[in-house]
Order: sequence, then structure tokens, then C-alpha cells
Amino acid sequence: MTRRKMLIGNWKMYKTVAEARAFAEQLGRSAHLLADSLDYAICPPVTALQTLRVVLPTKVALGAQNIYFEQQGAFTGEVSAEMVRELGARYVIVGHSERRNLFGESDEWVRQKVHTAVASGLTPILCVGEDLRQREQNETMSVVERQTMSGLSDLTGEQVATAVIAYEPVWAIGSGMTPSPEQAEEVIAHIRRVVSDTKGQETAKQIRILYGGSVKPNNIAGFVAQPNIDGALVGGASLEVESFVAMAQAMAGGEQS
Ligand code: PEP
Repeated sequence: MTRRKMLIGNWKMYKTVAEARAFAEQLGRSAHLLADSLDYAICPPVTALQTLRVVLPTKVALGAQNIYFEQQGAFTGEVSAEMVRELGARYVIVGHSERRNLFGESDEWVRQKVHTAVASGLTPILCVGEDLRQREQNETMSVVERQTMSGLSDLTGEQVATAVIAYEPVWAIGSGMTPSPEQAEEVIAHIRRVVSDTKGQETAKQIRILYGGSVKPNNIAGFVAQPNIDGALVGGASLEVESFVAMAQAMAGGEQS
């Protein structure tokens, strides 16, 4: 089976509602440049979900950047899966390295969030990746293996097949540095093997695994040309319509809708 390629924007803590609306209106004017053969999503701050749901072109889905794993309760400052789903989110990023490193999210929390996302009808985008020290000590494969197995451990093969994994080396995020497409392919092929060993071959063939970390219009084609790389999770370069569209076009090889 062929896996549809995906372009997902992670806006992090950027854009007010007014700025998000302006982006969506401008993207709407360029929607004919987004090939129908790809899947698209934007993960804005939670405050902009409702507006984007109304204004974004329909071929661009919405995702949240985080959820808490409980359904409801006395958890000041958190949002639940149901709350973001009600605002139009179909995806949720789980275990981004900024959440793991700046907010202390453990593998155990990530596992629970992935489980809650799936139980609530959201597609998790599970982020895995090594930091610079781990890379220098040749721990890349063992780190992504541990994070992948732990993150998916509560899910059935069927549930994993429709989930998304993003391999994001921590040292590449926002730094302008990237692994070569061949190096990213090697790690992503390994992640697919881990999925195959733990959830079955069919599941591994279906799950989409993206690369993320300093992806730009001028380097995205090299990554998505690799056989195991099913698209990109993009931070900085997803904030401007011009670069979002340029990445979509580079992925589609010039094809339009
Ligand atoms: C990210 O935030 O997931 C990311 C990959 O950021 P950037 O593209 O800016 O490196």
C-alpha cells in the first residue's frame, strides 16, 4: 500500500488569533497550489483552533500541540483531548522535545497522552529523537527505540497503523542543522522495524513516519524522496504562507490540485 505524504506545521507559541486568521485567509487564496495527493495539517496555539477551523481551506486539517491525559478535573491550565477535538483538532502532537525537555514530560506521560488521544478519536503525532550528546555517544537508535516502544505500548496494531510518528533529532530543531536525508532515512527505517517487531509487519507498512528539524523549502524534497520518510513536521518554516506552499509544492514535485 502507498502511504499518503503529510506536511504538518507546528506553530509552537507563535501567532495571535488575528495573525492566525490572516495566515488562513492568505493560504485560502493559494489553496489551488496545494496538491490533493498530500495531507496537510496546522497545529496552532490552542487559542487559534476555533478561528482556523472556520477560515483555513478545507484540505488543511487542524491539530493541537498538546493535551493532558485525563478527561477532565482539577488540572489548572491544562486542556483535554475532548476540548481540542470540539474546536476542530483531528491530530495532536505528543512528546515534542520542547515538552519533554522544558516541561519535564516523561516517557510515561507521553504514553498516557498517546493513549488518551487515540481513545478520544484524535490521531497522535508521536515525536521521538535523540539530543546531541546521545547522538555523539551513538545512542540514537536506542533512544528512538525506547521512545517509540513506550509511546505506542498501549495501542493495538490497528490503532498504531493510523498514528503518526515524527523523528525529530533535538539538535536539529530550530538550529538550521539537519542530518542528511540518508541519515534520517536510516533512523526512520529503524523506527519502522521497531513498529514491525512490536505491532506487526502490516502495521509497520501503514504507519506514517515523518522527519522534523529545520525543514525548509530548499531541503524538504531530499527528505521526502527517501522510501521510509512520509513527510515532514515543520516549525519555523510553517509560519509563513509562502514557505508553507513552497514546501507543499516541493513535496508534490510541482503537481497542483
Ligand atoms: C518542530 O518544532 O517540530 C520543528 C521541527 O521545528 P523547526 O522546523 O523550526 O526546526
